[in-house]
Amino acid sequence: MIPTSFEYVRATSLEDALAKLKAANGSGKFIAGGHSLVPLMKLRLSEPQLLIDIGRIPDLAGISERDGKMVIGAGTVHHDIATSSVIRERCPVVADAAAMIGDPQVRNRGTIGGSVAHADPSADMPAVLLALDAEIHLKGPNGWRVVKAPDFFRDLFTVDMAHDEIIASIQFAPLRTAAYAKLYQRASHYAIVGVAAALHVSGGRIASAAIGLTGAASHARRLTNVERALAGQPLSQQTIAPAAQVAGVDLAEVNSDIHAGAEYRRAMIPVFTRRALESAMARA
Ligand SMILES: Cc1cc2nc3c(=O)[nH]c(=O)nc-3n(C[C@H](O)[C@H](O)[C@H](O)COP(=O)(O)OP(=O)(O)OC[C@H]3O[C@@H](n4cnc5c(N)ncnc54)[C@H](O)[C@@H]3O)c2cc1C
Repeated sequence: MIPTSFEYVRATSLEDALAKLKAANGSGKFIAGGHSLVPLMKLRLSEPQLLIDIGRIPDLAGISERDGKMVIGAGTVHHDIATSSVIRERCPVVADAAAMIGDPQVRNRGTIGGSVAHADPSADMPAVLLALDAEIHLKGPNGWRVVKAPDFFRDLFTVDMAHDEIIASIQFAPLRTAAYAKLYQRASHYAIVGVAAALHVSGGRIASAAIGLTGAASHARRLTNVERALAGQPLSQQTIAPAAQVAGVDLAEVNSDIHAGAEYRRAMIPVFTRRALESAMARA
């Protein structure tokens, strides 16, 4: 339960953070809030020789709206997202999900960038970012790169980010008609099953839908069969209930652990999909 020894430095800018990472020659790691990394270090599943603190880089944290997009700095803590009036007004699903993460301590230290980079299979934000088709903005030695959330979350704790890149921000078009519903572990509040539903509504019909699922499989993913079942249909309870029924049926493997067996998770996926869809519909 004691990590291996390490050096600690504080980065002053994105460029400084990347330079320090490069100088560490593969043995350095960024630390933001430390809520995912430190437990791994204590278990010696991660043994960086140098921790580069990115927690006080000016401008890495903060929420703004630019060119019609919400821009959340990677260093923004969950609490600031949950209590942001602009997020709550323009895209309430993001504030709702942030408010459901862990406990006050986790929400005041853990960052959205850390959550996205770590990609825990039970983390909430990946499902929401998938439903919003969000962009992950990365900076590396060769400049900037933008990866869409569906391409970013690849496998268990595996994302499309090179070891020499840093996440600078998360960006998405705001949408009011989206909601998140989760069945959570009673101790940690991690999702056993979490579903984010985003509905694009036009003239009383669902023009398109995007549904993100977390907690149930190796990594967060879209429920494309539900999305297809909803597209072009009237926005009504009669549309939503049968569409939700097919949620998860095409998942080859569903997680099974001490918190819930695979059979139970399979049963809960349609339930929480329906709840998320109903809440999104109520915002239309
Ligand atoms: C008790 C407990 C309960 C929790 N409950 C929940 C929950 O209910 N739902 C949920 O979703 N999560 C939950 N979490 C997880 C929590 O949300 C994450 O630990 C947190 O968001 C990670 O952010 P961090 O800033 O602490 O990351 P860190 O631990 O500092 O870093 C995590 C990883 O991301 C990398 N990293 C961090 N920032 C960047 C960046 N900008 N660019 C590139 N790489 C970066 C680090 O190098 C490291 O590999 C819980 C955690 C704890 C300890």
